[in-house]
Amino acid sequence: MRAAVVTEFSAPLELREIPVPEPGAHQVLVRMEACGICRTDIHIAHGDWPIRPALPLIPGHEGVGIVERVGAGVAASQVGHRVALPWLCSACGQCGFCLSGWKILCESQRNIGCTIDGGYAEYAVADARYAVPVPDGVPPLEAAPLTCAGVTSYKAVQAGRVGPGDCVAVFGVGGLGHLAIQYARQAGGFVTAVDVEAEKLDFARELGAEQVIDARTRDPAAVIRAQGGADVALALASTSSAYEHALRSLRRGGRLVRVCLPAGGIPPASTFDAVTRGISVIGSVVGTHQDLAEVFALHAAGRTAVTAEPRKLEEVNEAFAEVLANRARARLVIEY
Ligand SMILES: [Zn+2]
Ligand SMILES: [Zn+2]
Repeated sequence: MRAAVVTEFSAPLELREIPVPEPGAHQVLVRMEACGICRTDIHIAHGDWPIRPALPLIPGHEGVGIVERVGAGVAASQVGHRVALPWLCSACGQCGFCLSGWKILCESQRNIGCTIDGGYAEYAVADARYAVPVPDGVPPLEAAPLTCAGVTSYKAVQAGRVGPGDCVAVFGVGGLGHLAIQYARQAGGFVTAVDVEAEKLDFARELGAEQVIDARTRDPAAVIRAQGGADVALALASTSSAYEHALRSLRRGGRLVRVCLPAGGIPPASTFDAVTRGISVIGSVVGTHQDLAEVFALHAAGRTAVTAEPRKLEEVNEAFAEVLANRARARLVIEY
């Protein structure tokens, strides 16, 4: 099978021909149909973070495909089903986090496309218990971005406890932001979308944002604070300035939800500001499998729109460059 492989941090991914993996006990072999390109994949491939994966590695944690074979202990009836292979691909199942529905915080978790090979290949194996069914009517090109960008923004809206009438500021209208706008509105929030590109701001309006602010020409935090301030700010752009703007945009008692990990580091939130203004700073990481099932159900019911642009596996390095240069309007998705 063809696979895009990280062989050295920051070097271009290598297109390789490698054997199709065998599904072991409790595993499924999935023939990939699509796999989204998340910024996390780029951070992993560049070794940007304190924890670096072992190489060689096949990235990809937005893989969607058809179960082609099953290993021991998996019902043969799973063959032919469409599944998504999200970031959390195994957990201990016994710790307090696992037992309380927070497997995504398990200290023994493994992550596809990071600790095991992921979806940048024609086939992938994964633990069947962590493969999430994709409902009929959700095409692979749309299911892939929902598998990380969708569930991450859905969870961020929940983590920010967005409720009816809340003023919600969404910083960054990319793969995460375009979905966060929709989830925040469904939770009853009034959305202000902030970006630095006119096209993305137009897109935010199409998705229902009540207000858009171009951060190149106006100070978004000043505008939002002059209107009373945001109840919830979602920092979804992968830049440190987005965090700073998001923090400053909040009203007293507001909530800042952090999701991205910019390569350049995160400016320390002003402790003085956070304390004296009663700001909550909340970290949120992807979401549970139940969250992903809900995200798929909303999409199958026509409640969300996903924009994705297909790319070929051979174009993966060019696609990384597009994402890094912010040239991608929304999610780029490798199609097989
Ligand atoms: Zn991701
Ligand atoms: Zn656990």
